[in-house]
Amino acid sequence: MRTATILLLTVTTAFGQTSTPVDVKHFVRTHDAAIFRELSGLLAIPNVHGDIPNLKKNAEYLRDMLARRGMKPEIWQATPDVAPTVFGERLVPGATRTILFYIHYDGQPIDRARWNQPDPFIPVLRDGSIDNGGKILANASSLAEFPPEWRIYARGAGDDKGPIEAFVSALDALGGAPASNIKLILDGEEEGGGTGLPAALRTHRDRLQSDVMVFLDGPQHPSGRPTIYYGARGGTGLDVTVYTAKAGMHSGNYGNWMPDANVRLAQLLASMVAPSGKVLIDGFYSDVLPLPADAVKMIDAVPDDSATMQKMYGVGSVDGAARSLQEGLNLPSFSVHMMKGGELGAVIPASATARIEIRLVKENSPRAMQDRVIEHIRKQGYFVTEQNSDLAILASHPRIAKVSRTLGAGAAGGAWRTDPQDPQAVFVTESLRGVWGDRLVRMRTLGGTLPVLEFIDELHIPVVGIAIANSDDNQHTDDENLRLGNLWDGIETLAAIMRAK
Ligand SMILES: [Zn+2]
Repeated sequence: MRTATILLLTVTTAFGQTSTPVDVKHFVRTHDAAIFRELSGLLAIPNVHGDIPNLKKNAEYLRDMLARRGMKPEIWQATPDVAPTVFGERLVPGATRTILFYIHYDGQPIDRARWNQPDPFIPVLRDGSIDNGGKILANASSLAEFPPEWRIYARGAGDDKGPIEAFVSALDALGGAPASNIKLILDGEEEGGGTGLPAALRTHRDRLQSDVMVFLDGPQHPSGRPTIYYGARGGTGLDVTVYTAKAGMHSGNYGNWMPDANVRLAQLLASMVAPSGKVLIDGFYSDVLPLPADAVKMIDAVPDDSATMQKMYGVGSVDGAARSLQEGLNLPSFSVHMMKGGELGAVIPASATARIEIRLVKENSPRAMQDRVIEHIRKQGYFVTEQNSDLAILASHPRIAKVSRTLGAGAAGGAWRTDPQDPQAVFVTESLRGVWGDRLVRMRTLGGTLPVLEFIDELHIPVVGIAIANSDDNQHTDDENLRLGNLWDGIETLAAIMRAK
């Protein structure tokens, strides 16, 4: 699929910009069927996180994909019981920059019964999204055209195998000849963590050394515009259990005497957050520096449509902790994911538990944030312990709470942020602007959590993220899909980075 003529027509005219972005469009138009077939083959290999035999099959398919592009692939298998990491590289004589791309190939578990197709690992092509009545097209791989609004449905289509296909196709579109050295790491452990990738990072640190890492994951901004992000939040949490007795007691016999643990827990949690949504725990926001003017500008330029989103999601009023969604993503957030206490029947509950989750920004330390919550609980008159309490301890404290430190949901890694003014971040940004102009959405930080920090800690290089999949790709749930237009645009996006000087 290499086309040397396209390479010859591609002339770099200015920093990060090329004169003929249309060449990649032409490549996509003339190779769409082959690209679709190759992606379908990849999606047909089950990739549920932790399913090591099948993940190894994925790694072999990926190795062959990279070998076809002369990327000298290697499968790094730390121990036999972990998912392999696939590595490939294309070194260019005289190149002044090395770009490391990251994509993951594992996926979330599936619930077959919930999918609108017989098998999430037999990809189907629809002439639109299911929500818009998209119908399955027969003989998908022999069709003559692949319009942008069509979608491929399969586990991993959007998260994160589509970007793998975009990557190899971008390289093909450039005739296999990028302007920078290109390295690629394909992770089989993103969806649930593991020991294979950290081991690979330590063992092969020198092979991975690069000037910048481009992290390819996550859905685009809901506006459907090409999206770059410079950071992501981390997470931490706490389970808090308040006790009022060793066991529940009869509400008729002891009501007005024995305190109700559910009420105590509700009061405690209510003391942590103002009615506006602002967190009242001392120091909760104190690590966060005032946003610099250029950060405020970037945040305000993100085309969020809060009113439409409220209608779409049935949100009658938004939380008041921040001025906007984007500003909120640049602050730590506090949420109670679960409250549990009591049982039906005439019993006053003796204990009640809440799971508190805190999303962190780069300036936060997970431990310090947990400590602030614990200190707040103490200030409400509680004896706080991390141990189970016996009868004597329960009886000797007017208020008692047990805390257990947790990682928090989605805490696959800590928070990180790259300075958008870092020269390498500017390079990637300007490469994308060369193709997308002002359509490019720039996000200072994503709200969710991505396993980026381990790369930063090991390689000490700036990282930027690029989102290719449609925002309604149903990642992690049933009917996961990738809009073909996002795949075609993703190829242009990645080709722009690969060929920029
Ligand atoms: Zn992902």
